[in-house]
Amino acid sequence: MTRHYNFCAGPAALPAPVLERAREELLDYQGRGLSVMEMSHRSPEFVAIAEQAEADLRELLAIPDNYRVLFLQGGASLQFSMVPMNLLGQGGSANFLYTGIWGKKALAEAKHLGFPVQLSGSSEDSGHTRVPAQVDIALSSDAAYLHYTANETIGGLEFDYIPGTAQGGLRRADGVEVPLVCDLSSSILSGPLDVSRFGVIYAGAQKNIGPAGLTLVIVRDDLLERRCERIPSLFDYRAMAEAGSMVNTPPTFAWYLAGLVFQWLKHDIGGLAAMDAVNARKAARLYATIDGSELYSNPIALPNRSRMNVPFVLADARLDKPFLDEAEQAGLLNLKGHRSVGGMRASLYNAVPEAAVDALIDFMADFEKRRG
Ligand code: PMP
Repeated sequence: MTRHYNFCAGPAALPAPVLERAREELLDYQGRGLSVMEMSHRSPEFVAIAEQAEADLRELLAIPDNYRVLFLQGGASLQFSMVPMNLLGQGGSANFLYTGIWGKKALAEAKHLGFPVQLSGSSEDSGHTRVPAQVDIALSSDAAYLHYTANETIGGLEFDYIPGTAQGGLRRADGVEVPLVCDLSSSILSGPLDVSRFGVIYAGAQKNIGPAGLTLVIVRDDLLERRCERIPSLFDYRAMAEAGSMVNTPPTFAWYLAGLVFQWLKHDIGGLAAMDAVNARKAARLYATIDGSELYSNPIALPNRSRMNVPFVLADARLDKPFLDEAEQAGLLNLKGHRSVGGMRASLYNAVPEAAVDALIDFMADFEKRRG
């Protein structure tokens, strides 16, 4: 068996030890004589798995006690509608920072549902190569929350700051606190995070958490009272929080695998500060290769270059196909950029080892020597 290096943007690489453990436990989970996939979600065995996963995540991210952790379905995209349904029940408008495709989709979905939306800042002027400066964020007088995308997975643009201040959070001109809502799909768990700065954090699992099918939501408990009256119960954060994310059958196997990833982060990696250091090294090496070459380039302003998703183009687009073909032959998979932008993209999520980045860099240098 050969496992290639997988640079896919999502569903993405999973840590080999996690897959091995899942394989060991696949048919017979810890002597119970059945697979996790075959267990009732209400059985003591599964409830223990679910609770352990939440406890490990809470420890990794140091999630304060006044936050609820929800394990949901529907992907990050469903949060584009669930967030306004849960936070705009008492009126006000949804404010957005627009820094790329995912933020735009989040705004469009809230608007589609008939909620008032307001653009509070944008990176469009720079061609989405630089995030808006904190001083340029303009909240509307009726802002009920501010939504932004911490890391735009397609553009490779990442915020280098959290809007607001650590002391006072984010406030409207009239002094009312404006909770920050963050789509962290492609950068959650890549390093430590001050959860207390946020009202709601959400992330699709299929990058740094586990397999597709699970969506993580971390919500400050006072915000559970702001939902719209006629919200479907499956979309209702409060109902889900009260039911331990089990209003209906949750994605049990994905939840279990996420729990294994959290254990891997804790025990094999040594926590998020250690993960952060590895991720910093991986990204620095790849960007240095790009910047030091005549063939490859990346347009993003240095402080906003994504550590998780590194898009780059070749100076001659005719070399794209040979680049991808040869990379695949070398065991370097899924380097093609998103269909909407073309070029290349190397996603360097937590489970992509440093050796994968070294192999990619060697391949890129060799390709440039031969074809550049
Ligand atoms: N937000 C971001 C930042 C993403 O990268 C993605 C998926 N690539 C999404 C939202 C949508 O996620 P899902 O497919 O889980 O709905």
